[in-house]
Amino acid sequence: MKSVAETIWHNGALMPWQAAQTHVMSHAVHYGTSVFEGIRVYDTPNGSMGFRLKEHIERLFASSKIYRFEHDFSAAQLIQGCSDVVRANGLTSAYLRPVVFIGEVGLGIHPPADTRCEVSIAAFEWGAYLGEDSLAQGVDVCVSSWNRLAANTMPTGAKAGGNYLSSLLITSEARRNGFHEGIALDTNGFISEGAGANLFVVRGQTLYTPPLTSSILPGITRDTVIKLAQAQGFTVREENLAREALYLADEVFMTGTAAEIVPVRSVDRLPVGAGQRGPITAALQQAFFGLFDGSTADTFGWLEPLSQ
Ligand code: PMP
Repeated sequence: MKSVAETIWHNGALMPWQAAQTHVMSHAVHYGTSVFEGIRVYDTPNGSMGFRLKEHIERLFASSKIYRFEHDFSAAQLIQGCSDVVRANGLTSAYLRPVVFIGEVGLGIHPPADTRCEVSIAAFEWGAYLGEDSLAQGVDVCVSSWNRLAANTMPTGAKAGGNYLSSLLITSEARRNGFHEGIALDTNGFISEGAGANLFVVRGQTLYTPPLTSSILPGITRDTVIKLAQAQGFTVREENLAREALYLADEVFMTGTAAEIVPVRSVDRLPVGAGQRGPITAALQQAFFGLFDGSTADTFGWLEPLSQ
């Protein structure tokens, strides 16, 4: 799939897609010096709504802070930019991709002290990340031979471009071996996350998910699912999980902005539970997608109307 639209927001202005160019000598091209977000806008009965848009932009600023990236835009300006680029493309639902990156400032690894990052926001249509069937049928995953980044090497709490080299190794190994996706262990051998999604394991009426210390990105969908599950009376435990927890689970699912809530039907070719989407995964999907068709009340205030 090619991610394209007519119009893009680039350094504060809307412009034709092709006009947002950067030089091949940009620092980010050579050293992976970017931080970014993935945000969805849903077409709801009350109009187009950003899902937890403010929190995604806050995470973008948190990622920038970790790397000391400076740019010229406030959170309010970026939220406005998100709204403007959705409207400019005539979209009612969209995937938004804000990115902050170091441009053409020379090849010294340490960028000049006055470096201001470039900032772009793309908006385009993006259906189910792992295919339309995946949400109902589930996906086949493997445990990756690649570990996730070790603590105090590259911070997985930052959504940084360079981290996705790890994700690329995980996902492309999985695809080569005939799986939809890979799940990485952390360097202590505990379950971490997928290439671009967090992971939940269900046993009985309890949901388990790796803690923030398992080299995961603190996913906003992960947080959403924790709150939706607790509201339905399930216990959610954030704790270290051994690999075999995947094999012995009643249900496994992955969460992410692009992935949404995807059931996992097998791990390393062992069926998870009955080998199909389980009832708790289905109930959480219903609660989650219900936010967007109005059948779930937005009690947490997660839906944000686009700014005018
Ligand atoms: N982990 C990784 C590595 C990711 O890229 C993503 C997608 N942003 C997630 C987890 C899920 O995060 P979120 O729910 O905030 O999209």
